[in-house]
Amino acid sequence: PLGNESVRLLRLSEQGRTVYHQGDLFLWITDLANPLDIYEHLEGLHRIVQAGIRVDGNDIDLTFNCGVDSAHQRPIASRIANAEQAAHEDELVQHNLGIEADVKWEISLLGALDRAIDNGEVWVCYQPKYDLASRTIRGAEALIRWTHPERGAIPPDQFIRIAEQHHRIERITQFVLDDAARTAASIRRSGRDFAVSVNISAQLLRFSGLPDMILEATEAHGLPPCGLVLEITETDRLDRSSATFAMLQRLVEMGFRLSIDDFGTGNATIDYLRYLPAEEVKIDRSFVQGIEASTADRRLVRSIIDMAHSLDRKVVAEGVETPTVLGILRDMGCDEAQGYQISRPIRAEELRALLGLEEVTRYG
Ligand code: C2E
Ligand code: CA
Ligand code: CA
Repeated sequence: PLGNESVRLLRLSEQGRTVYHQGDLFLWITDLANPLDIYEHLEGLHRIVQAGIRVDGNDIDLTFNCGVDSAHQRPIASRIANAEQAAHEDELVQHNLGIEADVKWEISLLGALDRAIDNGEVWVCYQPKYDLASRTIRGAEALIRWTHPERGAIPPDQFIRIAEQHHRIERITQFVLDDAARTAASIRRSGRDFAVSVNISAQLLRFSGLPDMILEATEAHGLPPCGLVLEITETDRLDRSSATFAMLQRLVEMGFRLSIDDFGTGNATIDYLRYLPAEEVKIDRSFVQGIEASTADRRLVRSIIDMAHSLDRKVVAEGVETPTVLGILRDMGCDEAQGYQISRPIRAEELRALLGLEEVTRYG
């Protein structure tokens, strides 16, 4: 009965497959050609099986190793042996998949990322947002960090894209939202007006559970919705009839604030200003960094600021690296600045210290 139950579970992942079973070995042949698809399947299976099974009213824990062989031209017996060996060697191994180095890296990255979140290798830092008129810090952007024990810091640009492609972005965002809500709530409790910004992948805007996920984080830490800004980047289709638009509308109705990130890049930029119920526009750092040297960039940034203001949007410049750029932006009437000139992304405790909320240990 244990075998039958296991076969039923294995079939869940790929309907209509014949699963061969002998001893503690299960075997099937898949049509899936893409290694990443195979990986996703095995991972799904892993989760199902890990939850244990119930046979004749008894709960049974299972351990489950997978091996894959993809040498189609080789004799079947040797392929089975190969896959079996792969299964014995590691928890979830792709053997002989003939995959390229970068795909291999993505696969190992995905597995490592799940563990990294559990292990505390993944953490959140905060980059202050500086209000140019009042010369105070009124908010910060939450940015994810991954400090790998062997590889060191892995840049978010590298793993966010892979996470987005393989349905891991939800978990990452949940993690960031929780940390961000906790940090913002604690700062606000000391009486300061403060909002934290969190990056929301375009892909997540199609996930119907997003509003509840956000609400869960803010409510857990007692952060009012106005203390959270959601930074949105390009999505494929955005007009009043799209599901994405309805989602954004809903989030705004719940009291959360929207910001259009990387403004000026991509192709939907003007459309965004027209449709999005966003109160803030963030000018992409590629334009901001150019305003010192290039007249064209200066004109462009000035017109973005004027256009946004004429539509009652607040403007944030990102990537401000020099005092000169900061000065130019102030003269242009830009509302907020973010960048190395003000502060690099820092840990939550450092942010609290910067805001004068924490005892700072002084040396000498
Ligand atoms: P972004 O949203 O445009 O974030 C700003 C990036 O600019 C950050 O890079 C920040 O460290 C960097 N930066 C800040 N000030 C300066 C400056 O003065 N000069 C320069 N050259 N760079 C500056 P980071 O942290 O590597 O993040 C890269 C991207 O990864 C982010 O771009 C964002 O798109 C994505 N990302 C980061 N955290 C998350 C997250 O929690 N969720 C999602 N979905 N995406 C995230
Ligand atoms: Ca951002
Ligand atoms: Ca940005």
